[in-house]
Amino acid sequence: MGGTFDPIHYGHLLAAEECRRQLGLDRVVFVPSGIPPHKDGSVASSEDRYAMTLLATAEVREFSVSRTEIDRPRPSHTVDTLEEFLRDCPAESEFFFITGLDALLGIDTWKEYARLPSLCTLVSTTRPGYSAPDVDSLPDGIRLGLKLLEIPRLDISSTDIRSRVRDGKGIRFLVPHLVEKYIEHCGLYREPEVSRN
Ligand code: NAP
Repeated sequence: MGGTFDPIHYGHLLAAEECRRQLGLDRVVFVPSGIPPHKDGSVASSEDRYAMTLLATAEVREFSVSRTEIDRPRPSHTVDTLEEFLRDCPAESEFFFITGLDALLGIDTWKEYARLPSLCTLVSTTRPGYSAPDVDSLPDGIRLGLKLLEIPRLDISSTDIRSRVRDGKGIRFLVPHLVEKYIEHCGLYREPEVSRN
């Protein structure tokens, strides 16, 4: 499960659980991106995003968090991450790469994207505002192998959470309690955001 997780919220957790259940996965590994290749940078540091992802998933036996992209000193490319996982896991392991459909729609700009279907099954979940017809614009090699899972719609986004914190609005019940406390304790997201694309 890849994402910036800036911060992780109940929408991500619900998507992970639904994918686990619908696909019969043994476990879901959350992989917070280190230096996202298509952005100037995240708002919170990699370590803060990693810590929040750990706090959010700690009590779920089937969930874990990987540092692989956080520890990579260069931009995080999904193809490199998948190859690392393939190298480190038993040969019979089967991989699924899960991310939001709005992220996946830009896949034709990702490094060596055409190789991804040979490394894993690409899985996406839909969220409010992004309807399935958008998928028609994906390259054939991606679109044909993509598993699109419908999940209950929770209209929560990291962008909205950051702006609620900045505006002094509450985020209780949008993120796990420990993530809310971490954001509060570390004073994350209080400052206006600079240069984000
Ligand atoms: P992001 O900015 O975190 O998210 C883009 C959109 O997708 C946001 O609306 C986001 O919602 C949603 N989203 C992200 N991850 C999600 C998830 N796991 N489940 C449901 N919705 C999700 O996206 P990103 O981190 O750049 O990219 C997502 C993944 O694609 C990462 O693993 C990243 O490494 C990979 N990626 C790879 C390349 C490459 O290989 N060159 C390039 C770009 C992205 P929220 O804001 O609410 O999370």
